[in-house]
Amino acid sequence: MAQASAIESEEYGLWIDGTDRPASGGRTLAVENPATGEVLTHVAAATEADVSAAVSVAASACDEWAARVPKERTRTLLAVAEAIREHADRLARIETLENGKPLSEARDQVRRCARHFEYYAGEADKIEGESIPLGDDYVDYTRHEPLGVTAHIVPWNVPIYLFARSVAPALAAGNTAVVKPAEETPVGALTVARLAEEAGLPSGVLNVIPGDGVEAGATLTSHPDIDCVTFTGSGATGREVAKAAVSNVNEVHLELGGKSPLLVFPDADLGRAVEETVSGIFTNAGQVCSASSRVLVNEAVHDEYVDRLVDAVAGLSVGPGVDDPDVGPLVSGEHRERVAEYLDLGRETVGDPLVGGDTLDRPGYFVEPTVFDRVDNDSRIAQEEVFGPVLTVGAFADEAEAVRLANDTRYGLVAGVMTRDVGRAHRVARDLDAGQIYVNEWFAGGNETPFGGYKESGIGRENGRQAIHNYTQLKNVCVRL
Ligand code: NAD
Repeated sequence: MAQASAIESEEYGLWIDGTDRPASGGRTLAVENPATGEVLTHVAAATEADVSAAVSVAASACDEWAARVPKERTRTLLAVAEAIREHADRLARIETLENGKPLSEARDQVRRCARHFEYYAGEADKIEGESIPLGDDYVDYTRHEPLGVTAHIVPWNVPIYLFARSVAPALAAGNTAVVKPAEETPVGALTVARLAEEAGLPSGVLNVIPGDGVEAGATLTSHPDIDCVTFTGSGATGREVAKAAVSNVNEVHLELGGKSPLLVFPDADLGRAVEETVSGIFTNAGQVCSASSRVLVNEAVHDEYVDRLVDAVAGLSVGPGVDDPDVGPLVSGEHRERVAEYLDLGRETVGDPLVGGDTLDRPGYFVEPTVFDRVDNDSRIAQEEVFGPVLTVGAFADEAEAVRLANDTRYGLVAGVMTRDVGRAHRVARDLDAGQIYVNEWFAGGNETPFGGYKESGIGRENGRQAIHNYTQLKNVCVRL
């Protein structure tokens, strides 16, 4: 029962101004365990009035937090990182229980969450302006000031880390935040917010309001008193969020979906290519924006690569995340239905998969790791984001065709290259239309490296040093001497 007790309460409230409070309408959302279908807990569902209350609290907390000497914000955020590390085991179990992912993956994500607070703690006192030479009669300098209240909409696939991804730089830059976690996975964010408060973050600086996308999410992103929106989620919702932000003349950062190609050249280490493919698509059961969901392999090595891939995929264990298998369940019954429709579509348009292809007849929302081969790059299953453990493999004749097929997508989040030819690696990296290029390792990079999308995969970049400026506004001061 140690796992179940990670979710400590039968009911969670909204986290506003450092207190746990019920929703004004009294409505709650049930949070399910996707490995069993059982209800884990209930969480308050914020109404419009609750969203306004959270925004107003964040606005009141803003001046005091922004006025802190930056190195004090550094110290506070380091204490938050430390508190997350101290409670890493409980947080990982929460992530596994509400999202379904294997425990070892959840532990990695909690480590990334702590590291993210640590990284931006280190940036808080390095937000430097510049001096601009206008001649001896002037002194001109810039200041990077906080925006005010930042709104963060978080999806369910990596709830604890994606919460930290935009909140940590926003707080480091002196903003206060209101976060709406996904309906399926609110407990991780609520728990981190409470730990942050215990670690010394002042009340009202970080508020978490679970609730429905439309009622709580849209109310937050269109609220007149917020100053910036960071949205991570689907393209369809991202467009709605962007419209609301633009109509309020607010900053908006969108981290959206992908259909990321992995190019396997004939000079690649094929064993490694298979390993990276498997982790790239089956991590978190394929529910990763940067999944390697579309492999393109050179004809000369296609058969050998595919044989090795099928062996590896057939050997993957599937089961409840708490048992730490290779692949856990999908997040919900509804999402499993959506993925199952893509399995049917694949069968109709491509033929039987080489491996997998079915949902599992057991409690919970399991789908077999699946590989479709010889998939035409124009087909829907090669163009649409499935967001499940479903890989398509296509073939190319030469480098030019590889790049053309890889770029033939409306997305541009990630692209990967497996090759031992260093010239080819850099040439292809230059020619691929994606925000991240992974060479010889999928999911390469980390908190320190910029992450975001070309084309319909988003607007702006998270991670790395420049992301702090997503949450600042630039002021120029010009003094006539
Ligand atoms: P989603 O768009 O359905 O939901 C995301 C969040 O938006 C949830 O919190 C939801 O409640 C909220 N929401 C829904 N309607 C809203 C509205 N009208 N206004 C404001 N908020 C609203 O996405 P999802 O299915 O939860 O997430 C999966 C998608 O997220 C995939 O497309 C995936 O690729 C993408 N994603 C992208 C990244 C990235 O960094 N680029 C990371 C993770 C996930």
